[in-house]
Amino acid sequence: MNNTLHHYVDGERLAGQGNRFHDVYDPATGQVTARLPLADEAEVAQAVAAAKRAFPSWSAMTPLRRARVMSRFKALLDEHADELARIISMEHGKVHSDAMGEVRRGIEVVEFACGGPHLLKGEVTENIGTDIDSLSLRQPLGVVAGITPFNFPAMVSLWMFPVALVCGNTFVLKPSERDPSAALFLAELLERAGLPDGVFNVINGDKEAVDALLAHPDVQAVSFVGSTPIARYVYATGCANGKRVQALGGAKNHMVVMPDADLDKAADALMGAAYGSAGERCMAISVAVVVGDEVADALVERLAPRVRTLKVGPSSDETAEMGPLITAAHRDKVASYIGIGVEEGAGLVVDGRDVAIASPGHEEGFFLGGSLFDHVTPQMRIYREEIFGPVLGIVRVDSWEEALDLINAHEYANGTAIFTRDGDAARRFAHRIEVGMVGVNVPIPVPMAFHSFGGWRNSLFGDHHLHGPEGVRFYTRLKTITSRWPTGIRAGADYVMPTME
Ligand code: NAD
Repeated sequence: MNNTLHHYVDGERLAGQGNRFHDVYDPATGQVTARLPLADEAEVAQAVAAAKRAFPSWSAMTPLRRARVMSRFKALLDEHADELARIISMEHGKVHSDAMGEVRRGIEVVEFACGGPHLLKGEVTENIGTDIDSLSLRQPLGVVAGITPFNFPAMVSLWMFPVALVCGNTFVLKPSERDPSAALFLAELLERAGLPDGVFNVINGDKEAVDALLAHPDVQAVSFVGSTPIARYVYATGCANGKRVQALGGAKNHMVVMPDADLDKAADALMGAAYGSAGERCMAISVAVVVGDEVADALVERLAPRVRTLKVGPSSDETAEMGPLITAAHRDKVASYIGIGVEEGAGLVVDGRDVAIASPGHEEGFFLGGSLFDHVTPQMRIYREEIFGPVLGIVRVDSWEEALDLINAHEYANGTAIFTRDGDAARRFAHRIEVGMVGVNVPIPVPMAFHSFGGWRNSLFGDHHLHGPEGVRFYTRLKTITSRWPTGIRAGADYVMPTME
């Protein structure tokens, strides 16, 4: 293995200057596939300086021209979706169809950004005072940074930079050191789409690079997605340094199953939402809150055989339903929670620790089977803590109110769902639940690109959600101009169709 990765700064592929490297793995084989240079403060400063140089001309370009770069980028993403999905699977491990889903959801944000000229329209009031007009417009911030987690190596950065760029900002992306190649591939596609040098930069690294971005005076805003302790730290540090910060954290998403729910559909939904992507999704359902013991018994009866026979395998196996976990350490941590749950007294219905992978060459992969716990209680660590793996816990409650109170009391409040046929129960749930994203008979209610993504409580620090209208607000600041003109101005006639470019 002599594949050493690089940074991407000012349109150049830069070798790392320091001597710190991180091993990147193929989680399906357990083998190291690349060495990643970890940037120091000087390398981060180089990327920020490139973005700062590119800002005046990029922000002065008309929104329509910026949107056209996004349109070309979107076409290239469509053309290379399969290749991008393979890059994702190679370093993340998720199965190919799931990686394709990630790419598609990312492309939707680029489609949203193609509407940049419309998104940036301001507000005007004519005659706000006598002969006075007022207009409010939104202007870009300057250099903005994105720091992303391992679990969606393409989609999460696509939640950020298409909106930031079309608004006129320049960008420095610091992807997860565990699966950085997707970000480098996106940079390549942006370059081919005609994005000017320096407008989009990728700096690889770990805490040192993050700290350098948070301290750099020329970084105006930081978008972060990752675990809650780091999100809290990034928010506090970035704000203390005068930056605008949105920091999205971890999750423990509950799905309520009411007695009147279609249990077959609820079981299907839980299988996909709990075990898809090996549970490494911030919108994965990790707790099923089942109302009534009879319903819970019937649901466990449906789930257990399916969890037991989940097809676990590498992304090269098209029949695999679930891939490996991201690292050996994370696999072991998730496995340790299964032991903790047993010690705490939860009922282990399916134990995923002894999974066997049929396909040769994958004996050292970071695989774990699906696990299912019944009789989980709110005091248990397996209930309170984010496990971020293929482990579903069932909490039995007696009523709708008990389910609602349970969810509203949890530290995390990213997403939630209710499965029911009762419109009133669903409507009141959506109204009273204190969670950022809510599904009614939809297990993973990830908002479309035209709406905004974000949780509440410890799942998001900051005021703005990602992408959609909230993304535009985050990446721009408001200016209001009030003007009075003396009468009698003559502009002359222009007979050419105005193009305004
Ligand atoms: P992580 O917090 O370990 O890493 C996220 C980013 O922070 C990475 O780029 C990493 O290099 C950097 N980082 C790590 N440690 C740091 C430190 N001490 N100081 C500064 N920077 C540091 O998260 P992860 O393991 O890559 O991703 C999984 C987590 O992300 C889960 O908790 C998951 O719920 C969360 N997540 C949340 C959302 C959401 O939208 N709320 C979406 C995806 C993932």
